Amino acid sequence: MATHKIFLLPGDGIGPEATAEVTKIIDWMNSSLGSGFEVETGLVGGAAYDAHELAISEEDMGHAMASDAVLFGAVGGPKWDDVPYEVRPEAGLLRLRKDMALFANLRPAICYPALADSSSLRKEVVEGLDILIVRELTGGVYFGEPKEITDLGNGQKRAIDTQVYDTFEIERISGVAFELARTRSNKVCSMEKRNVMKSGVLWNEVVSAVHKEKYSDVELDHMLADAGGMQLVRWPKQFDVIVTDNLFGDMLSDVAAMLTGSLGMLPSASLGAPDPQTKLRKAMYEPVHGSAPDIAGQGIANPIAMIASFAMCLRYSFNMIEEADRIEQAIANVLDTGKRTADIYSEGTTKISTTQMGDAVLSELQALTG
Ligand code: NAD
Repeated sequence: MATHKIFLLPGDGIGPEATAEVTKIIDWMNSSLGSGFEVETGLVGGAAYDAHELAISEEDMGHAMASDAVLFGAVGGPKWDDVPYEVRPEAGLLRLRKDMALFANLRPAICYPALADSSSLRKEVVEGLDILIVRELTGGVYFGEPKEITDLGNGQKRAIDTQVYDTFEIERISGVAFELARTRSNKVCSMEKRNVMKSGVLWNEVVSAVHKEKYSDVELDHMLADAGGMQLVRWPKQFDVIVTDNLFGDMLSDVAAMLTGSLGMLPSASLGAPDPQTKLRKAMYEPVHGSAPDIAGQGIANPIAMIASFAMCLRYSFNMIEEADRIEQAIANVLDTGKRTADIYSEGTTKISTTQMGDAVLSELQALTG
């Protein structure tokens, strides 16, 4: 059985509580299914600062680079509010993304039927929703130069951010979106603002060219990003995969996320380019939520976002599609039984703790595995 090298970075706050529930699943998969996961654990964020006065040590960066996948909990908290800027907890996350060149951010928005009532939209609009937003993560206006505020000397200042994309950046992110669409409902919607932005014109051209050259079997639509935002809240089920740039992706993925209810339910993956030899992509999997200092240590955090991030890891790094499907089904089944952590609790359901939720998902997974 092949060995799958996972580097686990629990981080701070509820990060360790959530990752502990994934470790239970990994241990069971190793002992009962012979899955061959080899797990190393490191420090990131405030935990790394306390140990080394760094947001992540060079040794742990080395482990991350050598792993097949990084599982990341969450970082940050008031304890580290005053540490020097370059070693603040978030710097560990940014370093991982940068050094691993994770240019593709995948944010699924899945609405479990049992939670359809807790969305801010009508049940029929969101029930059964399953869309995937593919956001370009390393380019665009967050990184483009010049990026500055200059004093104009007349009592005015001028702030400049630069939206910049090269062809290769659009080619590689659209390639990821088309590949993923082929494993789903085979539809991609590309969103930009070609009506007012040159980067939108190029984005549209390059996505169309990549589609024509390599992926004409996939259905492709283009939509202006503002119209896309409206369509996401009007009838989100029209979408399968949405591909968009860093800025629009940041906003549209948060809009899509809220269609599904709680932050504690949302997983994500960030992927790099495939290695020319092994064809494996560098990858990091993490919940969308942060370290939730307000509830850390109370045993009430929802571990589902973290567990679902592990399911994404099985799907995208280890090609263990059936196992990933089973974990997602186990989550849905547990929710169907009415078990809820505090963040998704509603009257008539049963409130359970972080470990009870982890145990419930694991025992459902065991039952589904037969
Ligand atoms: P947050 O996501 O940590 O929490 C927002 C709210 O959602 C809180 O009320 C929290 O209790 C709740 N929540 C989040 N995850 C939950 C879960 N799994 N179960 C139940 N409830 C959950 O965001 P914040 O409060 O803005 O930030 C707190 C800290 O986390 C800050 O230091 C911030 O910088 C950091 N942060 C880290 C990451 C990351 O590590 N990727 C992301 C966002 C924020």
